Amino acid sequence: MTKAWGILPEEWKPILAERGMRPFRADQILQSLYRDWIESWDDATTLPKDFREQLKVEFPLTKYETLAVSESADGTKKLLIGYEDGNSVETVLIPATGRFTQCISTQVGCPMGCAFCASGSQGVVRSLTADEIVAEYMAGRKVGEITNIVVMGMGEPFVNYDEMMRALKLINAGKGPNLGARHITISTCGVVPGFARLASEGIQFELSVSLHAPNDELRSQLMPVNRRWGIDELLDACADYTRKTKRIITFEYTVIEGVNDSRACAEELARQVRRVPMAKVNLIPLSPVSHRPDFRTPPESTMLMFLDVLMRAHVQTMLRRSRGKDADAACGQLRLKNISSVPPKRDF
Ligand code: SAH
Repeated sequence: MTKAWGILPEEWKPILAERGMRPFRADQILQSLYRDWIESWDDATTLPKDFREQLKVEFPLTKYETLAVSESADGTKKLLIGYEDGNSVETVLIPATGRFTQCISTQVGCPMGCAFCASGSQGVVRSLTADEIVAEYMAGRKVGEITNIVVMGMGEPFVNYDEMMRALKLINAGKGPNLGARHITISTCGVVPGFARLASEGIQFELSVSLHAPNDELRSQLMPVNRRWGIDELLDACADYTRKTKRIITFEYTVIEGVNDSRACAEELARQVRRVPMAKVNLIPLSPVSHRPDFRTPPESTMLMFLDVLMRAHVQTMLRRSRGKDADAACGQLRLKNISSVPPKRDF
């Protein structure tokens, strides 16, 4: 049994041919799924009834439920998406002028264990399948027309590469939801083998790399992944990626007071990112997380100092603000928080 939302548009024709069905049915199916946005095969009224029944059995739509919605004062909405097995993830919708960005999760929890991130503080339960990731998008687009996707929710996308990529290819497909590749950003904490794989896809997705520290000593303390792939190896992979794809890499640097916020850190950061052709930096003040009360948000003056040092070193830099704080929807806040407050079979 294959889930319909996990099948790429071009895969339908051969699948149908194997079953002795006519090729034009593929287009009817795609119309129903991604133009009419059916929520049940019963609603695919262009298809004959017995065919609909067959699709229900062989290619069901993924069962999901929006279990909760919390809205932040800044308009950011966090949806809790529950799946059939009782697991759930969070997806965040972020309005901005001319944009409606969806932040999606790729795993239930996260195995990477970054010190400052709540999503990883309880480990990983399982990876999502492609259709489950698409289901997040389906839930999101009911709230508003999605213009951008960032893969910055729970989980490490490069650890769930195949399913994550299948979901993004589907969302990007012309006969699917048709969201432009340049409007889709994958963010990794630095799982090095993922870079060459992504480069070989030949798709113009955007890539962000969570750096957060300019040297191995500090980065290994904050991000266990650095003990496996150190900064040199990571930056070499980034440089190869930009040379091969001619695409920019954005380095994310979350500034944590008293941890990675010194002028020396800023200067070292500038030197490191300059090793990568076509790199830019996003500076983000830490969103406080309850499991690490010792990690504090830096004052604005620190952010400006970082900006100044990087700009002087000719590194293209942006100051970013964390959105959705009061709905626990900000960067690094997505987590299994309400674990005891829901009925059985629901993880939240
Ligand atoms: N695993 C991927 C994607 C998820 S995290 C990655 O690491 O890139 C999305 C971004 O939020 C990452 O840059 C992550 O480091 C950052 N982040 C995590 N916790 C944060 C916090 N408490 N404050 C600010 N940013 C945080």
